[in-house]
Amino acid sequence: MEGLMMDYQLNVPAILRRADELYGDREIVSRQPDKSWHRYGYADFASRAKRLAVALRSLGLDDGDRVATLMWNHHEHLETYIGAPVGGFVTHTLNLRLHPDDNTYIATHAGDRVLVVDKVLWPLAAQFVERVGFEHVVAVGTGETPEGAIDFEELIASADESAFSYREIDERAAAAMCFTSGTTGLPKGVVYSHRAIAIHALTAVSLLGISEADTILPVVPMFHANAWCFPFSCTLVGAKQVFPGPHLDPDSLLEAFETEHVTLSAGVPTIWMGILQTLDAKPDGWDLSAMRTMTVGGAAPPRAMIEAFGERHGLHITHGWGMTEMCPIGTISGAPGHERGLGKSEAYDRRAQQGPPIPFVEIRARGEDGLIAWDGQSMGELEVRGPSVASSYYDAPDAADRWTDDGWFKTGDIVTIGPDGYVEVQDRAKDLVKSGGEWISTVALENALMGHPAIAEAAVIAVPDEKWSERPLAVCVLREGSSASDAELRDFLAPSFAKFWLPERFEFVDEIPKTAVGKFRKTALREQFAGGGAVERTQA
Ligand code: ADP
Repeated sequence: MEGLMMDYQLNVPAILRRADELYGDREIVSRQPDKSWHRYGYADFASRAKRLAVALRSLGLDDGDRVATLMWNHHEHLETYIGAPVGGFVTHTLNLRLHPDDNTYIATHAGDRVLVVDKVLWPLAAQFVERVGFEHVVAVGTGETPEGAIDFEELIASADESAFSYREIDERAAAAMCFTSGTTGLPKGVVYSHRAIAIHALTAVSLLGISEADTILPVVPMFHANAWCFPFSCTLVGAKQVFPGPHLDPDSLLEAFETEHVTLSAGVPTIWMGILQTLDAKPDGWDLSAMRTMTVGGAAPPRAMIEAFGERHGLHITHGWGMTEMCPIGTISGAPGHERGLGKSEAYDRRAQQGPPIPFVEIRARGEDGLIAWDGQSMGELEVRGPSVASSYYDAPDAADRWTDDGWFKTGDIVTIGPDGYVEVQDRAKDLVKSGGEWISTVALENALMGHPAIAEAAVIAVPDEKWSERPLAVCVLREGSSASDAELRDFLAPSFAKFWLPERFEFVDEIPKTAVGKFRKTALREQFAGGGAVERTQA
């Protein structure tokens, strides 16, 4: 017997239509390059997104054509994010921190026809625009429009909103595209369907309890994995959206949290570490009483950081794990209810773990002898499947081995899974240290080291060793005015780890190199300290 329900398409137009009808007066606020604030309501946003959809069609675009963006987080980026897929096109976010050669490759490979770019980022775009051969370049913001480009405001003004109608776009059609940063090999394109985005947005809304009453500031860039879906989940429920523009330093962010009464924010651990240091230096500097939770993900957050926010500043952290290939959230830890009945310290332990899978994401992990037990001890590579997980990369036949024969995606993360489905990421397969045949988790060592009062940041890498094949090396950044010796740090770690886990060497540096989205760039550290990255692996 068939179900007799409507075949309603779960798509981005449905998200915009709802916001347009219900939340016209909710606010969207963006920080401009000159630090002034731009404000308008969802009604204006929806009107402009619809006109952009019409205007892109009038430029000659067809269904499924790619519209690249090279922008900071702000309302024009949101208009493109939503306006392009609503018109039947595909938003393709380019990463403004990548080398122009990489963006040339990525935009060419994706077949991008239009580029929407911040005027302040034109010097960067100019280095690859001609090489890609975009048919149209649309320039956003105040100031001079580069020669040959169309001004974004003029483009929107030229479009007639009455020419727009909400279309029944097939939910399986592509809505957005994002390349993984390709820490190994060439960048790979992930193509999000309307359906994946809609389901994912709804999941984020329910798990994070996002509503019209919220004010959300995504620090995570919109060019990184759908900004963790916040542009879609906020629009779906009419949450006030606050965009930081290019101002991502701790003081600017804290000021925005206070003045806009932000209730939820999101960023990678390095962003929160910077904010924590600033708050520690000036604990009464800002009124953050509106802040309900700060979500962290993209890399493992140190437990000490989660605890410090809670104990020193009364600020709650929600921790999520995800991947570009997963829309991106895979697990969420620290959601209400997860810590019921636990003491404070155990609750922080728990929140430092990555958490259980979100609804409709299934997990399992594979060790050398097959699928591992969910005992919180056995380690294996995490595999996932679900409606918000990629089924292949865009035009990359060589990457088919990232999926198992029965269609699960191999994440490349080595994890343990507890009896209650709580995932704990031990390492990326390529970062683990294998010493004397035993695995050592660099993530566990880093997080413990970052709990030492003298250490601001620590990254652990494998270095070749004649006897043990590899040994851990800790690269540390000291807090200003602090000092620590190798012996002191080893003694600090000793109670928590087996002896053979303790780093062989410590190196002290001014700064740990970061990837385009603020994660530790371990390949660079390996080149610097381990002799040309000799121990880099792609498999556990
Ligand atoms: P990349 O880092 O390769 O540019 P992604 O942003 O998609 O691309 O990164 C996904 C990876 O980031 C995961 O496979 C995992 O290794 C790491 N990661 C993400 N969130 C967490 C987390 N909360 N804890 C530990 N690792 C994380």
